[in-house]
Amino acid sequence: MVTHNVKRFKVEKPKNYNFTPGQATDVSINSLELKDKKRPFTFTCLPSSPFLEFTIKMYPDHEKGVTKHLKDLKTGDSLIIRDVFGAIHYKGQGVFIAGGAGVTPFIAILRFLKEKNNLKGNTLIFSNKTSKDIILEKEFKEMEKLGLKLILTLTKENNKKYDNRRIDEYYLKEKIKDFSQHFYICGPIRMVGEITSTLGKLGANPDSLVVES
Ligand SMILES: Cc1cc2nc3c(=O)[nH]c(=O)nc-3n(C[C@H](O)[C@H](O)[C@H](O)COP(=O)(O)OP(=O)(O)OC[C@H]3O[C@@H](n4cnc5c(N)ncnc54)[C@H](O)[C@@H]3O)c2cc1C
Repeated sequence: MVTHNVKRFKVEKPKNYNFTPGQATDVSINSLELKDKKRPFTFTCLPSSPFLEFTIKMYPDHEKGVTKHLKDLKTGDSLIIRDVFGAIHYKGQGVFIAGGAGVTPFIAILRFLKEKNNLKGNTLIFSNKTSKDIILEKEFKEMEKLGLKLILTLTKENNKKYDNRRIDEYYLKEKIKDFSQHFYICGPIRMVGEITSTLGKLGANPDSLVVES
């Protein structure tokens, strides 16, 4: 488990299977009842990794959901993965803005930048409801030591160790000085819509926005 409801899956990598950091694939569980129930998940490992990794938030209350079954998988069970796809890829230094499990494409990209010693000049603004929901907090803090600017904010917990603000116009103005850089946004549809239009208002160029929800 990565957090109380997010699980890491480390799986065999098919021969000649390639992806770009930030990309995803449709995954299903290889069983008679579930093999056609596909859900998109992002690779969180490096493309050079000998295995594939997914970081997946479980929704036990989604009565027709797949993630509640993913939770029960055991070593040796199999998944079906398909072609890779995804709008998010690294275009250059910028600000990564994520809500909850929306951070997954940025895990892959930031790990890639770390490998290339290129974290400096990038910012991660990561919003969660509470501190126990923060995915890979320790790893992001390690990246902070290597030059990543890390901003963690909580919307449903008052905790002095973090910001306690929603990502809105005032917050973005306070945290970002340069709106001419790239912005990468991923999270719940509503959050992505609001932040995208706010960034436009603050002067960000639509061509510099890389978005997925
Ligand atoms: C490109 C892309 C990449 C993604 N990558 C990742 C990733 O790496 N990691 C990750 O964690 N997520 C990722 N997601 C999100 C992920 O795909 C969904 O969270 C996942 O599909 C949820 O699957 P599910 O079957 O459990 O539930 P759903 O498909 O959301 O729901 C299944 C059914 O459950 C019921 N249901 C839905 N909502 C509720 C509710 N609130 N209460 C009760 N019942 C409900 C409905 O009947 C619904 O039909 C990604 C999404 C996209 C588009």
